[in-house]
Amino acid sequence: MTIDQLSPDRGAWIAGEWRHTSDVTPVINPSTGDQLAEVANAGVEEMKAAVDAASEALSSWSATPPRTRAEVLRTAYELTVARTDDIAMLMSLEMGKTLPDARAEVAYAAEFFRWFGEQAAQIGGEFRTSPSGAAKILTSRKPVGVCLLVTPWNFPAAMATRKIAPALAAGCTLGLKPAAETPLTALLLARLLDDAGLPRGVVNVVTTENPGPVVGAALDDNRVRKLSFTGSTTVGRALLERSATNVIRTSMELGGNAPFVVLPDAEVEDAVEGALIAKMQNGGQACTAANRFLVHRAVADQFLDIFSHRLAALRIGMAYQPDTQLGPMITDRAVSGIQAKVAEAVAHGATADTLSSRPGRGYFHPPTVVTGVAPDNPILQQEIFGPVAPIVVVDDEEEAVHLANDTDAGLTAYVYGSLSSALRVAEQLEVGMVGVNRGLVSDPAAPFGGVKNSGLGREGGHEGLAEYQETSYMSVAW
Ligand code: NAD
Repeated sequence: MTIDQLSPDRGAWIAGEWRHTSDVTPVINPSTGDQLAEVANAGVEEMKAAVDAASEALSSWSATPPRTRAEVLRTAYELTVARTDDIAMLMSLEMGKTLPDARAEVAYAAEFFRWFGEQAAQIGGEFRTSPSGAAKILTSRKPVGVCLLVTPWNFPAAMATRKIAPALAAGCTLGLKPAAETPLTALLLARLLDDAGLPRGVVNVVTTENPGPVVGAALDDNRVRKLSFTGSTTVGRALLERSATNVIRTSMELGGNAPFVVLPDAEVEDAVEGALIAKMQNGGQACTAANRFLVHRAVADQFLDIFSHRLAALRIGMAYQPDTQLGPMITDRAVSGIQAKVAEAVAHGATADTLSSRPGRGYFHPPTVVTGVAPDNPILQQEIFGPVAPIVVVDDEEEAVHLANDTDAGLTAYVYGSLSSALRVAEQLEVGMVGVNRGLVSDPAAPFGGVKNSGLGREGGHEGLAEYQETSYMSVAW
């Protein structure tokens, strides 16, 4: 299938029409560095049109019976599953995700449509007597209004559906601004939602390579009542400031720096399996990626030996070849950034073992294990976002917990050990999510999110729906 067959749409999707612009943005295939396609490079004018469309659609969509909203979401789920191969191939081409990772992402992305569709018809309120007895309190949950959703490139489908599905379930309308690196998946989702019967204008997609002014224009428009952002802490912080002007509700899913703790009573082979998922899913380009391995001295040699062999055996290559296990990084700049972090770690006394070579002219970085990492090595304070595993040997639980918490980030952690010791350690970690004897925490029914500089709010689960709802009540004389 050609790229034009996989992804026929190149305009921004506004009020149910593809809007083309004179200026275009190239979309690059990271496996080769070649251009795949060009999409509209929308500006402030298109973002204003998207907000107009979402505002016009709001009263009717929020008044649409919950069952109808649920059915649109259920159809979107079925279409996503039916189109798995095409969506997976498109993500593999534009983002560099291996096909198994891409298919897993499509399943995860689809489940948000299904799960939040199931919630749409369950939205309720409360009826209480005020303590004085003078009134009844009727509490209801209303859609927050027009939302602006800003998503990153690393999970082009799931980061979008994790926001779109609860917004639609709650009765909100929206503008989505996908990352400039991966607009094609977002445009495919717009077409899919249209095919699912979503009324036009409810979802609008604005593709741009100038996110500052375009996103800023939406945040300065007081019809926009909600910003949900997934991306770096630096950009998130700037958008929080900008959101203050109109006192916009915000959800922030920001950067991580996940510790992966291996305790002396861990099943080491299980820990390695978990480490491979937590470190290597999406080539390490995940906010939940294990970023620091804190391994007890009693099992450190065994863990390192098995883990290094498994990393060295990974087949690195073009993302969309069926047997590839590690694809490229998103850009050449990303590769240079990872190389610089490894070089800095080595300059601070660590040793880097590169476990295979670059296979071609795409943006590849080989799996790398960094050992001899002292607790003050700067690599432990940076989000690596690539297939590099720094390993710190620790002597006891206290040291593991201290090092795990010694960071500004607080998104995810992983702990391997007997249930009692793993839970004891997990409870002390300053993070929003812990994988206990599991290398994966993401689940559409669970409240995904972080503490400290990793963000505000939760996505997924009942908490994820509440992010798109306002609570209001009536005090009724009795
Ligand atoms: P990024 O912050 O550069 O970009 C994220 C989004 O913000 C993109 O759509 C981008 O176009 C937009 N953007 C960039 N500059 C902007 C500006 N000045 N104004 C408005 N919008 C702007 O992040 P990225 O490189 O795309 O993604 C990687 C980061 O995202 C990592 O830090 C990763 O940890 C984080 N992330 C977090 C989660 C989570 O759920 N916590 C999930 C995935 C990725």
